[in-house]
Amino acid sequence: MSYVVWFKELRKDSIPTAGGKGANIGEMLTLHLPVPNGFAVTAQTYGEYLEKTKIQPKILKLLENLNVEDTDKLQSVAQKIQDLIVSTPMPQNMVEEIMYTYEMLGSEKQKASDLVEPKEVFVAVRSSATAEDLPEASFAGQQATFLNVKGKENVVTAVLACWASLFTARAIYYRVKNNFDHSKVLISALVQKMVNAEKSGIMFTVNPSTNHADEIVIEAIYGLGELIVGGEVNPDFYLVDKKTRDIKKIEVRKKDYGLFRNDKGENEKKLIPKDKQERQVLNEKQIKELARLGKKLEDHYGKPQDIEWAVEKEEVFIVQTRAVTTFKAHTIERPDIADETGKILLKGETASAGVYAGPVRIVHDPSELHKIQKGDILVTPMTTPDMVPAMQRAGAIVTNEGGMTCHAAIVSREMGTPCIVGTQHATDLLKDGEIITVHATRGIVYEGKIEIAATAEQKIEEALPQSGADLVTATEIKVIMDLPDFASKTAATGADGVGLVRLEIMIANGSIHPAEYVRQKREEDYVHLLKEGIRKIAKAFVHKPVWIRCSDMRSDEYRNLQGGDKEPHETDPMIGWHGIRRLLDEPKILRAEFQAVKELHDEGFDNIGIMLPFIIRTEELKKAKEMMREVGLEPCKEIDFGIMVETPAACWIIEDICKEGISFVSFGTNDLTQLTLGIDRNNERLAHLFSEMHPAVLGEIAKVIQTCKKYKVKTSICGQAGSKPEMAEFLVRQGVDSISANADAVEQIRHTVAKAEKKLLLDAERKR
Ligand code: PEP
Ligand code: MG
Repeated sequence: MSYVVWFKELRKDSIPTAGGKGANIGEMLTLHLPVPNGFAVTAQTYGEYLEKTKIQPKILKLLENLNVEDTDKLQSVAQKIQDLIVSTPMPQNMVEEIMYTYEMLGSEKQKASDLVEPKEVFVAVRSSATAEDLPEASFAGQQATFLNVKGKENVVTAVLACWASLFTARAIYYRVKNNFDHSKVLISALVQKMVNAEKSGIMFTVNPSTNHADEIVIEAIYGLGELIVGGEVNPDFYLVDKKTRDIKKIEVRKKDYGLFRNDKGENEKKLIPKDKQERQVLNEKQIKELARLGKKLEDHYGKPQDIEWAVEKEEVFIVQTRAVTTFKAHTIERPDIADETGKILLKGETASAGVYAGPVRIVHDPSELHKIQKGDILVTPMTTPDMVPAMQRAGAIVTNEGGMTCHAAIVSREMGTPCIVGTQHATDLLKDGEIITVHATRGIVYEGKIEIAATAEQKIEEALPQSGADLVTATEIKVIMDLPDFASKTAATGADGVGLVRLEIMIANGSIHPAEYVRQKREEDYVHLLKEGIRKIAKAFVHKPVWIRCSDMRSDEYRNLQGGDKEPHETDPMIGWHGIRRLLDEPKILRAEFQAVKELHDEGFDNIGIMLPFIIRTEELKKAKEMMREVGLEPCKEIDFGIMVETPAACWIIEDICKEGISFVSFGTNDLTQLTLGIDRNNERLAHLFSEMHPAVLGEIAKVIQTCKKYKVKTSICGQAGSKPEMAEFLVRQGVDSISANADAVEQIRHTVAKAEKKLLLDAERKR
């Protein structure tokens, strides 16, 4: 028997040999889509490994009578089995065939008769379980993937590690809960060449800024695609007619840098040679070819696709494809320009459609943000998160840099503010105070105020999160929100409440640091600012819970606010003076925040609850509760009073916290994962290791939910992971009470939860 199968021999029905992911690759190849080449180490190879090494009985023995609800025991058995697999070598003939095939992959020769010149290439080694992606039991995303693997020994080790990942605590738990026989689930390991991207980019099969379904948008840069998302490089922009594949627009931008993989598998930022910087990245043939592939993917999956692609040696590869986030086309009327007789000053890309005329305010640096008055046009090299308040005041936004997925584009679309990105020269060509018209729908900046003809009204499609509130789930689906002015829009998602309001954006809007209000003895102004913001949210979500998190301001993030220069310089602000520890050191800030909530409560907004960030000690909770009482509300009785579980410490002392008395806990998985895994959440280099689905994080969550149930304390999540289906599914199985997602993910999470709940009910029925 052959231990491996080349991808080109796989088909849609190859699940028994190559698992769900392998069969999917087979399907893509049947459609003649260019996926990077590779081979599957078959599921039968794994079966033979278990047999020849005689470890199967040992594994089954360890699993015998295992109570999967006993998290500690489950973790320890899972670890023992994984250790057993990675430390049991494969039979020699298996090792040799995998190594030989890997070398063939490197030398691009795929016939045994070909003379192989050994060449080691970077590959991804992915697990592909044979039960994966079956409608009955979704095992998706549970097993390991290893990127940038190079060297034949390392490939064999990675294959073993994939096999071992069939026995993570989570996988064992799922199989037991779904009545799957452990010995019947096999696993294949897919060894796939990593594209060494000379060029790459993204493609949307629907125009994301206008929602026009007949257009395909492609953005392209040199090197790896990461720099597009960060908005660090201005990508070329190509607009293609989906039907005719005619190229409607080509905009070539200056691309100074590119990210390239070096020999060690690390990404390196390199200067693009001068003569290439302003050259078009893709030629017409490649643009049309990409558009053809995009259309094919959309037709095949029946939904608009968001595609990542890469080019190596002039060959185009599809690296990833997923459905564009659910948006419902909502038609609004906006006045448009009758004809364009004005003088064109600049051209750029439509990040958010609309037309607006007003005065230019150039902001080179966040310290100049105060210049932006309501209705001004913000002109800046590139936006950053602390510009959001100024962006909200702006009537329109024009940037030098960035593409469709950069920060400015995402935020302005969310706010519905006309925005043109990637103009390259806006900050040089425009003058402070000069009146311009931003015709964002067409990506043009005109001199002066252009007459808007009332008769020439054009319908522009605006993306609004779709409301699927008619789907009833036992687990409440809430939303996370930061911008009070978007409360009604966010409430339109039909969410069951707000699981997290970060006060920081409201504070940044007021442009004074909370500590500065206190220094100036202006706590009342702080209370007023908070009340104004929170009231809008509480009103939009009337009769639904709205959990306000007390301020959690890291010392390095708000230096641009008034008084921000007095913030301490800390070695590591992420684990520094912020959250409850800071609020108790500066109790006047915390008291003002409680006071704002109390006054709103008195106005009748009794749907507001309080959430304490970054708790590590029971005393912190005790002191905060004491202060709430002093302000005039009895915690847990008159007001929902809870904590964020963001530190391993909080998980360990959860029983004491419950005993002290709280209404709810909410998992802040961004920090919890960071602190559990020891991985800085902002470190791009480690992003591939940052996973909320790590068994350690899941173990902590499971333990906390169990304990909270004992004390009738409600559980929730408000970290980014709440917007991920695999986490939502895990939480439903653990019996979480509510899940908070980003506004644009509410719909998807509601469906995931409904499905997971149904499955739980069916399982329970089956066991009766
Ligand atoms: C978290 O840590 O998961 C969280 C929601 O808080 P923040 O992202 O604001 O740190
Ligand atoms: Mg946090």
